[in-house]
Amino acid sequence: MSTNAAAGGEGLSYAELERTHALNLYPKRGITIVKGAGATLEDESGRTYIDCTAGVGVANLGHAHPRLVEAISAQAAKLITCPTIFDNDTRARLLAKLAEVTPAGLNRAFLCNSGAEANEAAIKFARHATGKNGFVSAMRGFHGRTMGALSATHKYRDAFEPLLPGFGFAPYNNLDKLAAAVTEDTAAIVIELVQGEGGVRPAKAEFVKGVRELCDERGVLMIVDEVQTGFCRTGRFFACEHFDVQPDILCMAKAMGGGLPLGGVMVNDKVDVSVGLHGTTFGGNPMVCAAALATIEIMQDEELAARAAERGQRFAERFDAASLPKVREVRQLGLMIGVELKEKARPYLEALMDEGILALPAGPTVVRLLPPLVISEAQIDEVADTLQRVLA
Ligand SMILES: *Cc1c(COP(=O)(O)O)cnc(C)c1O
Repeated sequence: MSTNAAAGGEGLSYAELERTHALNLYPKRGITIVKGAGATLEDESGRTYIDCTAGVGVANLGHAHPRLVEAISAQAAKLITCPTIFDNDTRARLLAKLAEVTPAGLNRAFLCNSGAEANEAAIKFARHATGKNGFVSAMRGFHGRTMGALSATHKYRDAFEPLLPGFGFAPYNNLDKLAAAVTEDTAAIVIELVQGEGGVRPAKAEFVKGVRELCDERGVLMIVDEVQTGFCRTGRFFACEHFDVQPDILCMAKAMGGGLPLGGVMVNDKVDVSVGLHGTTFGGNPMVCAAALATIEIMQDEELAARAAERGQRFAERFDAASLPKVREVRQLGLMIGVELKEKARPYLEALMDEGILALPAGPTVVRLLPPLVISEAQIDEVADTLQRVLA
């Protein structure tokens, strides 16, 4: 392990520096990543890995995409920050682009800096639009770690109660139970179309259709959290397109800024706000807007939604789960892949890393693969074959 003499001459490795000076919040993997290109990452010793984390679903374009690097560099040299009280050329172009690529009816955006903030804003906008305070979301759902987003999240909450009042939960893909949880005071239903952190669980088409109808009947807004599923991950630009559903509020982040921190909320005409109701210092800064604009244009030009569908299909055909007694189920939509095991996933994540593949968990027993959408055919084959071998 190399040492970082420059950081104070203590001779500590980067890993030791992180352990010493960062709060211990993340289960560390024990490698120090220093660079990347496409779907490949490199650690400080020069060892390379196929990246099936993509920064947790962020680097959909792969690492160091030349067009993205160019767009970020050019904007950095021109203007990095500009408060939203001023209009800005780059932000204006991104807003128009977002209205173009998001589902019909969603024409206006609030730009923020993360997925949690997108959900926070969605909660505030839904309360304001309906005059109601309650929300219903799904068990195993994940919407972020800030107090409002956490209130809509079923996991990770116990240590932080009391959270916001008026949040109810129903089992995912169970329309009857969801309908039963809606009350007179429900402002919105908040759901993912594929639960990501909750184990890579795609919604059933009838469920999503039923949620839309339920919302219309009961005067409740439909908030769809596409923070993980958006921006071509599932084989369509937004997962909404698989279900032919138009939400009232769409939450976005992760891959949106090409790796720079950017979140957003798109709303339809049911949502209206007034000056001063909400805001953020960094949201919509020209720097991240340039990155997002380039990201979307690259996704369109390189047809990355179709690529995600094709590579996902290739994985599904090559990975023979039926021959593996340790595998309970494979769940997948495009390049959002979850392999549920009959035992703990962590030892297999470590075994994959030893074999040069970086993957994620999604709950205790699911190996989650979120590779960059630019992953090559040879790389996706290697991922499928290595996973096959490691699980045999
Ligand atoms: C990651 C994620 C979030 C939270 O995003 P952050 O940027 O980490 O705050 C919210 N919702 C979903 C569906 C996510 O996958």
